[in-house]
Amino acid sequence: MSKIMPTTDPFDDDKLREECGIFGVVGVTDAANFVTLGLHALQHRGQEAGGIVSHDAVQGFNSARRFGYVRDNFTSQSLMETLPGPLAIGHVRYSTAGSKGPAQIRDVQPFFGEFSMGGAAIAHNGNITNADALRRELIERGSIFQSSSDSECIIHLMARSLQRNIPERMEDALRRVEGAFSVIAMTRTKLIGVRDPLGVRPLVLGKIGDGWALSSETCALDIIGAEYVREIEPGEMVVITADKGVESIRPFRARKPRFCIFEHVYFSRPDSIIGGRSVYETRRQIGVELAREAPVDADLVCPVPDSGTPAAIGYSQESGIPYAMGIIRNQYMGRTFIEPTEQIRNMGVRLKLNVNRALIKGKRVILVDDSVVRGTTSRKIKEMILDAGAAEVHFRIASPPTAWPCFYGVDTPQREKLLAATMSEDEMCAHLQVNSLRFISLDGLYRAVGEAEGRDHKQPQYCDACFSGEYPVEPADMIEKGFKMKTAAE
Ligand code: SF4
Repeated sequence: MSKIMPTTDPFDDDKLREECGIFGVVGVTDAANFVTLGLHALQHRGQEAGGIVSHDAVQGFNSARRFGYVRDNFTSQSLMETLPGPLAIGHVRYSTAGSKGPAQIRDVQPFFGEFSMGGAAIAHNGNITNADALRRELIERGSIFQSSSDSECIIHLMARSLQRNIPERMEDALRRVEGAFSVIAMTRTKLIGVRDPLGVRPLVLGKIGDGWALSSETCALDIIGAEYVREIEPGEMVVITADKGVESIRPFRARKPRFCIFEHVYFSRPDSIIGGRSVYETRRQIGVELAREAPVDADLVCPVPDSGTPAAIGYSQESGIPYAMGIIRNQYMGRTFIEPTEQIRNMGVRLKLNVNRALIKGKRVILVDDSVVRGTTSRKIKEMILDAGAAEVHFRIASPPTAWPCFYGVDTPQREKLLAATMSEDEMCAHLQVNSLRFISLDGLYRAVGEAEGRDHKQPQYCDACFSGEYPVEPADMIEKGFKMKTAAE
């Protein structure tokens, strides 16, 4: 068996990881080619594996699922010729729920089910928080699961529904599901998109020629030349056919939306648009807020590449302290070191980031990063900067302290591994041995995403559970496994 393994970066275990990107197209020739491009643009949302399902009137449903990057798998003509037709959906993933051991191809989406009224495939971004209970119930009632993924529950719930068509079966299934889901599905003729009632994970609609596209982010519409139409609204289902266009359905009880605020900070690509706002501009604004909240005398503002860059630009603009590329990222790290030796692993972050010594020497440096998760990378970066002769190191973090795990489709370490779960800001500063450490406040972050009055503490406008510990959907499976929710005293 090939030793190729998932492309989880062994030098970057100090970031929260988005778990999935989804994309679908209907009404174009060779839809799978468009899906390949879309998934390529969404690769930052999951690098472990990808899959595409297409449908063609003559050849029916076809699928391909592979480990690794889209560009390495879905570019060969011989493979793409097996995915014909005007309708296709795809998925890139890094596992959330499901197997945490060696990756299994059976966990790679889209999942496919054959029903009495025809086949359907689904691709899911998010995490079902009652999946364990649903799975137990479904198995007791005779369902045979093929994968360890929470998303497969949706297919089995659809199989058990008594509704007469697939969109209605999806509605039935998704009403049983709790948690976060953006789903793209397809039948022989329909492309279907759904967002959970809180709209935790993103999903957007685009128009390409006579056809339509659904995508996790707008950056993937750009790559195929599709025009951005709108976001799928929280709790909305769209059923799209090439001839009739977009039909909108509201299968769920309306609730106040709670979009993931971390999409603004880190997960989404800076060239995407969320809620009518450029992600890049929001991140720059986070830097502006951070400079107002946590000023410090220094000579240079340097981003921790690449995700700290827009916030560092904003911090520099607001503070008047010059922006500089004090740390250079090696863009070509990747699968070369899939199975590194111990010696190479110990070199850790130095393989990926290098300090621009000539610039740093003797300077008081502000380092702007998007988040601190375990703190391991922050500490190594600080050492590199001091080794290069910096006079002072000040960390400024473009998100509030990450003190709680995410259960809605983002891979987070267990709570006790999160630095901010066990230490105050001052203790973290001492632990990292830096001259100062400041995080943006939750209100500052809300201002940066466009909420002029900051966070509504009674009815928060976003999901911010990883910072606040206030979960908009109770993580039932995790509570059953012993997870302790925030108490009134905390
Ligand atoms: S817990 Fe954090 S990462 Fe997860 S959905 Fe909420 S804001 Fe996003």
